[in-house]
Amino acid sequence: MTRILIAEDEERITSFLERGLRANGFTTTVVRTGPDAVALARDGQFDLVILDLGLPGLDGQEALRQIRARGERLPILILTARDGVEDTVAGLDGGADDYVTKPFRFEELLARIRARLREDTTTESTVLSAGAVTLDLRTRRAQVDGRSVELTAREFALAETLLRHAGQVLSREQLLSHVWGYDFAPESNVVDVYIRYLRRKLGAGVIETVRGMGYRLRDD
Ligand code: CA
Repeated sequence: MTRILIAEDEERITSFLERGLRANGFTTTVVRTGPDAVALARDGQFDLVILDLGLPGLDGQEALRQIRARGERLPILILTARDGVEDTVAGLDGGADDYVTKPFRFEELLARIRARLREDTTTESTVLSAGAVTLDLRTRRAQVDGRSVELTAREFALAETLLRHAGQVLSREQLLSHVWGYDFAPESNVVDVYIRYLRRKLGAGVIETVRGMGYRLRDD
C-alpha cells in the first residue's frame, strides 16, 4: 500500500485529494500546518509527500528544507499558487521533486505522483498491454495493433484505467472517480462520451458495454 502525506490547510483541497487518491488505491494522511508536515514527513511512514507551500506555522520553503535536512529520498511534490511559480522553482532547487500549480486537475497530479513513485520502483512496468492495445505510460503513447493513436490526456487516463483492469467490468462511478476525481457529479454522462471517443480511436470492439453494469476492455 502506497502511503501519501498531504500537507495542505485548505479543506476543499484536502478532501478533494483524499477522495481522489483513495479511489486510486492510495492511503492518505492529512496535516494542516508546517511543523506537523515536517514531523510526519521525517518519521519514515510515507512513500510521497504532497506539500502546499502556503502552510501556517512554518514557511513552505523552510518546511521543505527541514524535511530534506535529513537527506531522505522521500519524493516531495509541491502545490503552489500560479503567481508563486518563481518561489516554486526555488523550491525545486531546495529539494522538491516536482510541482503542480493550483488550480490543478486531479489526473495531472495523479500522473506526477505515479511518475515520482515509478522512479523508485523500477520493477513496475511502464508499458500496459491488453488485446490489441498498448499504452506506454512514460511517453504517453498509445498503439493499436502496432499503429500509433493520438489520445488526449483524458482519453489516455481512461484507457489506462481500463487497461489496468482489463477483462473486468468497471462501473461508470468507478471510472468517474478514477479518471475525473471529485469534480463531476455521478449523474454526469462524461464517461459515456469519452468511451465513444476511445472506441472511435481504438476500434469499436475494444471496449464492451455490459448492460446495467458498465464497461469492460477486452483482453483477448
Ligand atoms: Ca495553503
